[in-house]
Amino acid sequence: MDDEWIELFEGPLSEYADSASSNGRVRIPWTELSEAHPDLAESVLSDPETTLKVASNALGRVGPVRTTVRVYDLPDHRTYRVGKYGSSMLGNLIGVRGTVVDVNRVKPCAREAAFECHLCGTLTRVPQSGGDLIEPGQCQGCEQDGGMRLNLAQSEVIDYQRIILERANSSMDDPPVEIVHLWKDLCETLSPGDTVTVVGIYDILPNQDKAVLETYLDAVSINNSKQPATVDEMADWQVKKWTFETADELCTAGSDYDCSKREIVETVADEHGVAEGEITAALEDLDDQSVVSERRGGRIHITTSSPPTFEPAE
Ligand SMILES: [Zn+2]
Repeated sequence: MDDEWIELFEGPLSEYADSASSNGRVRIPWTELSEAHPDLAESVLSDPETTLKVASNALGRVGPVRTTVRVYDLPDHRTYRVGKYGSSMLGNLIGVRGTVVDVNRVKPCAREAAFECHLCGTLTRVPQSGGDLIEPGQCQGCEQDGGMRLNLAQSEVIDYQRIILERANSSMDDPPVEIVHLWKDLCETLSPGDTVTVVGIYDILPNQDKAVLETYLDAVSINNSKQPATVDEMADWQVKKWTFETADELCTAGSDYDCSKREIVETVADEHGVAEGEITAALEDLDDQSVVSERRGGRIHITTSSPPTFEPAE
């Protein structure tokens, strides 16, 4: 994968590699990456942690070393409103739109903490997520768990900021929120009230003792601009209503009173300008409510005889 990135940085993405020299980061639109190398673009989505690290290392061989590779402008089906993505997205790169409601102070944080063994002195390095300190299970040198001490001088300490993103224009009393971790140059770029799209790795906070896991988004890039934000302005119920009505129409037209999920997604996206991820999420909601059901081969059936009411009660 190294060589493929090097070819990209020397070829179609060379302008980005050139721009990397000044500030320790390079921002690449996902769509351009996808045109230049579809497989790598897919890897960025499905295994962002490894792929972006490899990209940064490759860039270090043709340009400045230690440059963070930031990808933005994900495809529509990977962009969601806060809370509209399922556990299947854990470990993946997703775009999340929302309003910034809480901004913590920027603090130094160990991105990689070095622990020194009391018994043999070996340093064991553990990547950190920004939450509670993750300690190594045992020493890499003597393989004992004889107690370890954090060695700050040997740790990689960088700027860190925690923010909270809330679903924008939600009709709920208690709209869903997501914790977002910002690192380095992404710190201090946001204020409460900003409506943003954060591209990041969806992950579980470490050291949890409950079955319902706390999640967070490890930010890779931020777009703090007015997106074609039609979806932000739509209430949940509206997207669900369109999705149900479209499914109902297509099923009625179908020979077995069913239709393909793909067809619903494309029709709603075309007619109402809703992002594909939103429509997929609406279909999942409808399935949870037993209004529709998905059968084999991605076929959707309507499983209710009377259409539900989607509008919120006054
Ligand atoms: Zn040891």
